[in-house]
Amino acid sequence: MKRKGDILLQSEPYVHVLSNKERGRRCDACFESGEDLKRCTVCKVVRYCNAVCQKVDWTSHKGECPCLKRVFPDVPLDSVRLMLKLLLKQKVGDNGNSVKNDIGWRDFSKFQSHSDEIKSDKNRMEQLSKIVFTLRKLLGDTTLPPADDLLEIFGKMVINSFTVCDGEMQSIGVAIYLSPSLLDHSCEPNAVATFQGTKLIVRATQNILEPSPANICISYVDQLETIEERQKQLQEQYYFTCQCNRCQDKGLNGEMLSVRCQSGHCQGYHRRLEDDKFGDCRGCGYQGNTIRADDVENFYEACRECLMKIKAVSENDPLKVLQLCEECQKEQKQLFTDCNVHCVHLLVKAFDAGIDRGHWEVALQYGLRVQEAYRKFYPPNSPHVGIEQMKVGKIQLYLEQSQQALITLQQAATTISITHGKSHPLYEDLAGLIHQCAEEMRAKLEFSLQA
Ligand SMILES: [Zn+2]
Ligand SMILES: [Zn+2]
Ligand SMILES: [Zn+2]
Ligand SMILES: [Zn+2]
Repeated sequence: MKRKGDILLQSEPYVHVLSNKERGRRCDACFESGEDLKRCTVCKVVRYCNAVCQKVDWTSHKGECPCLKRVFPDVPLDSVRLMLKLLLKQKVGDNGNSVKNDIGWRDFSKFQSHSDEIKSDKNRMEQLSKIVFTLRKLLGDTTLPPADDLLEIFGKMVINSFTVCDGEMQSIGVAIYLSPSLLDHSCEPNAVATFQGTKLIVRATQNILEPSPANICISYVDQLETIEERQKQLQEQYYFTCQCNRCQDKGLNGEMLSVRCQSGHCQGYHRRLEDDKFGDCRGCGYQGNTIRADDVENFYEACRECLMKIKAVSENDPLKVLQLCEECQKEQKQLFTDCNVHCVHLLVKAFDAGIDRGHWEVALQYGLRVQEAYRKFYPPNSPHVGIEQMKVGKIQLYLEQSQQALITLQQAATTISITHGKSHPLYEDLAGLIHQCAEEMRAKLEFSLQA
């Protein structure tokens, strides 16, 4: 029996590559962020905290170092570097020495490659030929393995790679882990993978009576998507159709596609029914059969388009992100509701843009609007919910709403202690914020007593 929050499995990477976007900000060996990283003097590409990290990484880096040097100042894509590292491992016959873990034996040679599916997948084959093109330049005179072997390794890589995330679940790299790749997918998982540096840790998010690999599942996709979208992603990326409970739950899916109440004076919404019609408003009972399917499709499309524009500008221009979100809400106000996933994606972007700009009041409003959908659509003990609460609590603390902040931060702590564990730096930050909150409340109380 494993209880929620218990560690089910931990694993160091078989191969790992820091994202190009993080280059210079984090150490290539341990993925910790650092100010004064030391560059490898030969390839001038990878950077390390210190000589210790460099030494640890040397077995993995020594093969790729001359390759990186050959194409410098060009730096290959993350996927190319991951493939290069896998090729170099295969060359010396290193399959990970059958790593024994809590849930079984596993080595790279036993990985599934889905090579038949990949062969008939035009996009994947194009990606492979681009990778091979760059690999030739990287490897110089060294001959590449035969095409079939390359396809095999490529297949194993794309099916089994994990996105390595920081505490806030933002991607910082990509890696292959041996045992964790045994774990199946469910859109309603009972476990979650989080990372401490490059180490992957799988924790139970529900109590699991018999924690064997067949009973543990994690989610390969974002659960804040409709069944249709999740199935599409799983099929395109992993070549299977998910059969989980959530993929049968048409009711929840209908909520994800809901539209604002048409009465004009109610905060409720109309849920999308299976026949693509809409139900009556749950708040005021206003009839949903007046809603036109065409209008709804246009509304979804407008939200999707806005999200694409945001993705094109984001990071660099948070003000523009806020402006795009405002415009979309204004134009689509007839149908826009915080309970629709297309809308929620926009609200989340506006929330983060508000934080980036230091517009705390604006950010807080968006953060609070997102919470209902997060609670409804993410399964219990999702790290996304905990992290969102932590951000909201931090802003409330900053805006001197300490009482509210304390409640929000404590909720976040409950979730994050399960998903990340109490020794994770993120949990330590959170405990610090809760302490600060309690101090401020005490100071306020003392002040009011004196007055
Ligand atoms: Zn390091
Ligand atoms: Zn180097
Ligand atoms: Zn599913
Ligand atoms: Zn209503």
